[in-house]
Amino acid sequence: MSFSSLSLQAELVEHLARLGYEQPTPIQQQAIPVVLAGKDVLAGAQTGTGKTAAFALPIIQKLVNTSPCEHQERTRALILVPTRELAQQVNQSIQTYAEHTQISSLMVYGGVSIKAQADAIKAGADIIVATPGRLLDHLRNRVMTLSNVSQLVFDEADRMLDMGFRDEIIEVLKRLPKERQTLLFSATLDERIFKFSKRLLQSPQVIETSERNTTAAKIVERVYNLDANKKMPALCHLINKESWQQALIFSRTKQGADKVAAQMKQAGVNAAAFHADLSQAVRESVLAQFKSGDIKALVATDVAARGLDINELNYVVNIELPFQNEDYIHRIGRTGRAGKAGQAITLLSVDDEPQLIKLEAFLDRRLPQQWLVGFEPDLTQVAPVTRKTKKGSLKQQARQKALAQSKKGR
Ligand code: AMP
Repeated sequence: MSFSSLSLQAELVEHLARLGYEQPTPIQQQAIPVVLAGKDVLAGAQTGTGKTAAFALPIIQKLVNTSPCEHQERTRALILVPTRELAQQVNQSIQTYAEHTQISSLMVYGGVSIKAQADAIKAGADIIVATPGRLLDHLRNRVMTLSNVSQLVFDEADRMLDMGFRDEIIEVLKRLPKERQTLLFSATLDERIFKFSKRLLQSPQVIETSERNTTAAKIVERVYNLDANKKMPALCHLINKESWQQALIFSRTKQGADKVAAQMKQAGVNAAAFHADLSQAVRESVLAQFKSGDIKALVATDVAARGLDINELNYVVNIELPFQNEDYIHRIGRTGRAGKAGQAITLLSVDDEPQLIKLEAFLDRRLPQQWLVGFEPDLTQVAPVTRKTKKGSLKQQARQKALAQSKKGR
């Protein structure tokens, strides 16, 4: 299938060819014609599937073919995203896809001067890519209105809800014209998203490119069983000895990310932490160094890493499993991007077993476990709750609780 068969105009197709986009990805094949036809869309698609182009290309084409009247606001498309990093990435993609047109886009996100942003907004842009909180600030300050927005996109809607943007989103919706086309993209399509989408979408076309809650194809997942104190040496071994070019490493906490990055540096690996406590300038610089290959290992938290688009990333490592099972899918989706193969490695000690059991139940499949040569676990250690002992141990805990209570009663 070609881009031109999706009713995209010749200039845009030629521009995509110059960018090296030969064929549309599955989400693009399905979404582009539906968006061009003006229908609302509810799409389940992870980062790395080409989802940005799936909404950006038809929106750009629509905007090129219409122009605002003189007295109307210039902004006709609004893309809501959960994080600054995703805003930057989506904005960058839009600017690349619209390079050959007059269409302009602008980012609106928190953590930077509100005044400078307000000036940029006043200058106007056809497309605004925004995080909900800062957008609302500008709307309340009457720096802008959304009166002429005809295209609305929610990108990573599940993460927006996770991050508590629900009220802000509802507030933004009140300020949008009722006559509009709305597209909702979410990595996971679950009951919560279906329920939320009922408020936003009218008779949407539901598009899913892979099974629900499954990870993108072409990702090899491995779980290495090892002792907790061997995680760092094993990680450094993998990066140094297995000649990995670069790796994205996930930690549950900001402090954990700092600690792992510091330990890796000590072991001679050029590593850096990436989390929300770092200033925007530091985050941007770290990301640029990682993209250029200067930094070999980026140790990130889930929120910070959401939506990161790094080309040629072959390895993702979970030094700990995430708090939320959905995040496992997001994490490993950072590799195996746009059809390239990738490896997602989880370092698992006995303490992590209960978390793995929950994750496997969520994924509805087992993750293959193996030993890493030279880092075999000490088998005399016992898991707090293993698959086999889970029921028995829960019963035992209940019994102990009842016993303690009856003692108290005596
Ligand atoms: P996304 O899922 O939007 O984050 O896109 C993931 C990566 O795939 C980005 O680096 C895009 O530039 C790239 N990409 C998107 N669509 C295509 C395509 N049809 N052919 C080749 N690369 C693509």
